[in-house]
Amino acid sequence: MLFMPFDELYLFLVLPAIIFSMWAQFRVSSSFNKYSKQHTSFGYKGVDAAQIVLNHAGVTNVRIERVKGKLTDHFDPRANVIRLSESVYDSPSVAAVGVAAHEAGHAVQYANAYFPMKIRSAVIPVTNIGSKMSIPLVLIGLLFDMTGLINVGILLFGAVVLFQLITLPVEFNASRRALSVLDGSGALVKEEIPASRKVLTAAALTYVGALAVSLAQLIRLIAITGRRR
Ligand SMILES: [Zn+2]
Repeated sequence: MLFMPFDELYLFLVLPAIIFSMWAQFRVSSSFNKYSKQHTSFGYKGVDAAQIVLNHAGVTNVRIERVKGKLTDHFDPRANVIRLSESVYDSPSVAAVGVAAHEAGHAVQYANAYFPMKIRSAVIPVTNIGSKMSIPLVLIGLLFDMTGLINVGILLFGAVVLFQLITLPVEFNASRRALSVLDGSGALVKEEIPASRKVLTAAALTYVGALAVSLAQLIRLIAITGRRR
């Protein structure tokens, strides 16, 4: 009964969320590819854009490195390093500049102890446990009729959902910082800003998609275990 894949909640809640999430994933790579072909008027590359955002915020202790892969760009707060993929680091495209400036936006958040980012970092350990242990705990709880175990499993799953929820303001804020510096510093001309914004909005939607999938799964989990309790 528990993991009958095609109950109503799966069909009308989880599945639409998964489809939305896949659509968002597709959009981010298609818009990145599209705007990777549009060169910046002043020839700034991804690495330059990241440096401009850091300079603008007066952040001086962050390194910028190349990393392998596609769309693997990220800021690593433990090493205090911005890692840009090769198609971003060296590319003078509006897509690359947008992505690089966004990652630098995270570095600035970290340097300024931006509050949602601090909460997010604090929740990470619980989230790591939650994503691995929640479903096994619920299954064992159901098998041996242990309500306490089921509840702990659901709580841990809830922590994962909470983490994804706190991720949203962090992501939107990083993009807002990026675009405002790219615009204000003149790194991009006014007409190029909407293209960079499109790439960053598409990227943000993948986080909304991930949250939607987890939230739908949480609701289904509560409904299924509730029937047993
Ligand atoms: Zn981000």
